[in-house]
Amino acid sequence: MSDACAQPGCPICRLAHRTVQRHLDKVIYDSVNDPATRAQLRESFGYCYEHAWQLTQTGEGTAVGVAFIYRDMLNAVTKILEKAGQERPSRPLLAQVQEKVNRTRANSATANLTQQLVPGANCLACAERDKMVDLALITLTDALGKADEKMESALHASDGLCVPHLRQALALCRSDTAVTTLLSLTITKLHALQAELTEFLRKNDYRFRGEGFGDEADSWLRAVSTTIGTIRPE
Ligand SMILES: [Zn+2]
Ligand SMILES: [Zn+2]
Repeated sequence: MSDACAQPGCPICRLAHRTVQRHLDKVIYDSVNDPATRAQLRESFGYCYEHAWQLTQTGEGTAVGVAFIYRDMLNAVTKILEKAGQERPSRPLLAQVQEKVNRTRANSATANLTQQLVPGANCLACAERDKMVDLALITLTDALGKADEKMESALHASDGLCVPHLRQALALCRSDTAVTTLLSLTITKLHALQAELTEFLRKNDYRFRGEGFGDEADSWLRAVSTTIGTIRPE
């Protein structure tokens, strides 16, 4: 945690990203031929949008691992479609009329098929990330609740929590001290970032362009990551 606090961006986002990357590395380098992992991945249709694309960036050996995993997916989807192609359910007349009137109503004849195209389990990387984030936030809020100086100063030195992780942390707080510390710390960070944004905007005014940019140059990106979290901390 203190290590993540010393790096740019929300420390919980960084821990979350590390957990996901470790999981993806393990799958690519150790578990791609493990039948249990492959079965889990078949159930979840591989990874969610974000983590599937992160998987493709894992490094050497990624292409072959991804090819094995996603050949399974395409095979499963093809079987579902072929089976559906052979048994075309007929729709009751009433449903046909209702669906004609209401163009946004789901087609009852393809309802079973569309249901089969929904993954049967959550993304494995999301599940591991969520477990780790809960654990990290419980540790953090418990430490703040005990006025743990080491944790307070680590958090002070960090860029602070992003809004989604702040929301989760506030929900997990079990003491008023932790809530008060989190709020005052975040408010201080937000004031500082707003001041940087104001300076960034001022320097973008043609009258002040010659001044050149300082630390505020990337404040517009930090404003986005503070609001929604950092997906891929460098
Ligand atoms: Zn975060
Ligand atoms: Zn995911």
